[in-house]
Amino acid sequence: MAKYSSKINKIRTFALSLIFVGFIVMYIGIFFRESPVLMTFFMLLGTIFIVASTGVYFWIGLLSTKAVQVVCPSCGKYTKVLGRVDMCMYCKEPLTLDKTLEGKEFDEKYNRKSQQNSAN
Ligand SMILES: [Zn+2]
Repeated sequence: MAKYSSKINKIRTFALSLIFVGFIVMYIGIFFRESPVLMTFFMLLGTIFIVASTGVYFWIGLLSTKAVQVVCPSCGKYTKVLGRVDMCMYCKEPLTLDKTLEGKEFDEKYNRKSQQNSAN
């Protein structure tokens, strides 16, 4: 298991789990079909999760337009870099847009706000 994954992939996994949770919550609602109030509550809650995941997917779309498209030096495929350091979506090759970080060991802390502020 890779310790890190590309950010866009991470958010995508999050959106997918939101849909999953939404369906589970709706499924729980079926057990309360004796009580229309509880069932409606769970159905609405499930719908909220699914709507939220749609929002996250929309957010991924926005992020993708901001991400820089690069050719991965390792596998030669087009991938997107978000922030200062990110990972190839296909082969998990660490990539950086910052020349000063080149050759350094991949560390997600380079993306933290304090680091970004000192750079900007
Ligand atoms: Zn790659």
